[in-house]
Amino acid sequence: MLFGYVGGQITNNVSVAIIGAGFAGLRAAQRFEELGIKYTVFEGSNRVGGRVYPFSYWNGYLQHGAEYVNGEDNEIYEIVKKNNLLSPTEIDEEGYETVVYGREVNNKLYNIWDKFESSTNEKLERDGANKKIFNKTVSERIDFYFDSFLAPQKLTQSEQIVMQNMNKLFKNQYQMEWSASANDVRVDSEATLNQYGFKSILDVLTSKVPVNKIKLSSKVVNIDYTGNKIKILLSYGQSYLFDSVIVTSSLGYLKQYKNSLFTPSLSATKSAAIERFGFGNNMKIFLEYSRPWWPRGMSTVQISGRVGINGNGNSLEDELMVFQPSLWASNILVVWIAGNGPRKVSKLTDSQLITIINNHLTTNLKDVYTVSNIQRIYRHNWITDEFSLGSYSYISNKTCSMNTDDLKLLRDPILVNRKPVICFAGEHTDTEMYQTVVGAARSGLREADRILNYYSSL
Ligand SMILES: Cc1cc2nc3c(=O)[nH]c(=O)nc-3n(C[C@H](O)[C@H](O)[C@H](O)COP(=O)(O)OP(=O)(O)OC[C@H]3O[C@@H](n4cnc5c(N)ncnc54)[C@H](O)[C@@H]3O)c2cc1C
Repeated sequence: MLFGYVGGQITNNVSVAIIGAGFAGLRAAQRFEELGIKYTVFEGSNRVGGRVYPFSYWNGYLQHGAEYVNGEDNEIYEIVKKNNLLSPTEIDEEGYETVVYGREVNNKLYNIWDKFESSTNEKLERDGANKKIFNKTVSERIDFYFDSFLAPQKLTQSEQIVMQNMNKLFKNQYQMEWSASANDVRVDSEATLNQYGFKSILDVLTSKVPVNKIKLSSKVVNIDYTGNKIKILLSYGQSYLFDSVIVTSSLGYLKQYKNSLFTPSLSATKSAAIERFGFGNNMKIFLEYSRPWWPRGMSTVQISGRVGINGNGNSLEDELMVFQPSLWASNILVVWIAGNGPRKVSKLTDSQLITIINNHLTTNLKDVYTVSNIQRIYRHNWITDEFSLGSYSYISNKTCSMNTDDLKLLRDPILVNRKPVICFAGEHTDTEMYQTVVGAARSGLREADRILNYYSSL
């Protein structure tokens, strides 16, 4: 039995480095703590949590990163239940308001749209199981289904324009949720949390890892596994020796630094999988108002087709489509941005951004709501975050067209004489729950156990 070794001779002499104090790294650390295996966590930034990033607001915490918990049969959901973190209010799926060229979409068109949306969702799901269609992007497939749906409908030209904009919003939703793909992520149910949400979950995880075992502001620039021990080199020149290492850097980080982070370099197969697999770039901007201008019960306002602008624009405003009130901070509206939006936003100051969003909302919603001015914004740009370099992973068309098991290639450890010298964890390595915090935590536990199993089998 494994526990026979714990704290014993074999694991006593082993020391492990964990790169990253996100959920994958913290879960691995927690496991080593339970087992009495020596470890050090190196975290490049000055905080723990990684892409779980709560910040204090009013009587709770808003979340720059993860916000919902996927599925109920997992450890993260257990923390949610145990600490009463479920939101007392749910998002009202009926509370959508869609505005196209400044006008609310009418019921007739909504009903037609609903039929298209539900049949297309089914088709996309079916496509997910059919490898042959992966030479087409999700967006191309949606357009194909849309064109064949629209043709037999007897709609006026202006009604068709509204439907085309609804289609644009639909595609945007896919881009938000899946970044680019609509295939086999296991969605499960998504639990909505209260105002403490991920702050409390993070607190539970960190409470099990002593502070002195996490080295903050310690960016690892090289992992050298040519010798008997593995040398971890930090950006300020200090180096440390370990028996095994768990790397939890995001896929975005690995894409950027895979050639300089490892000595010797990663195998061509692993490198190619890192290149192929998708990594998205979503972000949120929290808009603070002195009081809400939107009606109670509105869960989302979507804007497509800008007043006074014809055709497909390419400006930032064209990416500002989805606005959702916070469920508990009643004066906060959250705008979700994907596509080219985050890059554009990263070049603007807060006051430039406030002006653009104020104009956008007042111009396009003037016939629907009396919009007031934004007081302040809060944002964290994941695409320019030095350590994330994007939001979360997705199965790309390249991965699908290769017919390779890239998630496995991404998590395969580097073994030297059977010894796992470098292990790979992080959301992008979990087969069932990649993209998610649940997947990240599962991956940390998986790699900690891989290391334990090896050393306890000696
Ligand atoms: C906007 C947004 C919304 C999201 N919403 C949800 C959601 O609702 N539900 C959900 O389940 N998931 C959501 N996610 C995804 C979720 O946040 C991630 O899947 C999860 O947090 C990833 O955890 P991780 O440990 O794999 O990686 P990370 O959290 O990225 O942790 C890796 C850590 O390693 C550090 N690091 C990297 N490289 C180095 C280095 N060289 N040296 C030292 N330290 C390094 C980083 O600073 C970071 O702290 C969202 C993500 C974003 C960006």
